Amino acid sequence: MQLHTPTLLVTLLLGFALLTLELGVAQRGLRARPELRRWNLGNWAMLAGFAMLFARVLMPEWLSLVLGNGLIALGLIAYVQALHRLLREAAPPRWTRRIQPALWLGLALLVFWPQSLRTAAVSLLFAGLLAPAVWLVLRHGWRDERSLRTVGVTLGLAMLALGVRAVHALGVPEDYQSVMQPSLGQGATFMMAFLALLGSGFAFQLAVFERVAQQMEHLASHDGLTGCLNRSTTDALLAHELRRARRERQAGGPAGRPLAFVLLDLDHFKQVNDRHGHRTGDAVLQAFVAIAKQRLRGSDALGRTGGEEFGLVLPGTDADGARVLLESIRQAVAAAPLATDESGRPVQVTVSAGIAVAPGDAGISADRLYGRADQALYEAKHGGRNRVEVYGDSNPVQAALPLNT
Ligand code: GH3
Ligand code: MG
Ligand code: MG
Repeated sequence: MQLHTPTLLVTLLLGFALLTLELGVAQRGLRARPELRRWNLGNWAMLAGFAMLFARVLMPEWLSLVLGNGLIALGLIAYVQALHRLLREAAPPRWTRRIQPALWLGLALLVFWPQSLRTAAVSLLFAGLLAPAVWLVLRHGWRDERSLRTVGVTLGLAMLALGVRAVHALGVPEDYQSVMQPSLGQGATFMMAFLALLGSGFAFQLAVFERVAQQMEHLASHDGLTGCLNRSTTDALLAHELRRARRERQAGGPAGRPLAFVLLDLDHFKQVNDRHGHRTGDAVLQAFVAIAKQRLRGSDALGRTGGEEFGLVLPGTDADGARVLLESIRQAVAAAPLATDESGRPVQVTVSAGIAVAPGDAGISADRLYGRADQALYEAKHGGRNRVEVYGDSNPVQAALPLNT
């Protein structure tokens, strides 16, 4: 059974028209996404390419072939560029521009070849242009947005079909005397092209939306300047960890898993801004977070609870453990300038920290624990700053009070 090539071509043309139209209508909200614009450019090129192949009835055949195949090749290159943008978050690789003159020249020279050889060569060219797209998805996108898997698989199958067409055209040249002649290779390729158009076209859009949703989620829970958790997420996490400790205790689990909560506040930070400027202040905040994060475990969480104030949730950590960690952070911050300002002057800061521990054998609310860490921080500030204080240490009576008062 042979598939009717002109019908398949019309279907492809309509498919690309639909996708282009759909993206064109949605364009307004998507203008900010360069990868989607690039993909849509690819759709336009494909649409124009297939239209040119069809327009052979209206123009010299050689012109229809060169323009048609050239535009399809440009479309495939645009898809590679779009995938590169999404997955590498960088400008498209230079080869995608540089090969274009050679590509047009090659296609023009192919006009003088017999049809079957030309079919084989063009198939291999297209398969070659798809290869970087498939490679990008397999190498960099398989674990990211799941929709990208569909993109990789359908483009991979299209590559395979093009390979079959090339081999078949070389083996059975009499089946490839004209573009519209039905044959195994033509049928397989155009069918797969249609599947790839549907599969990758729509899946790529889905992948971009998945990416946007992830970014929104991240923005809603993280601080834009430092990349830490934001205040509300830190509060929620602390409450969640305390509930978990309580549940474990009630279930007779490992009794006595403590949890430490720490408030850290940069000392005299207002002066840093006044002397070195707000921008330098921002750089110091970022450098401080980098130093602190280097010393945390995977289960620890650092949040920005205010301008230059940070909250640290340390599950499974007692007062001694928290003190060792905070001393190491404090010393690292004090050891070297965290930034240089616009005139090259080094900016040195120190940090104070207040630790409060929820012991494993008694309950305490997040609010109360927060208040205790705040009080310990207050003591650190009043004790001269650049210090770590543990709630209750300086006041044994307080420490001995029942925990849930
Ligand atoms: P203390 O040692 O008592 O904590 O003194 P301080 O100057 O650090 O405390 P204060 O609360 O008086 O000032 C905090 C300053 O932090 C005020 C504000 O200019 C600065 N700040 C808050 N958020 C930001 C920020 O996002 N970027 C920069 N650069 N500065 C910030
Ligand atoms: Mg401060
Ligand atoms: Mg402060």
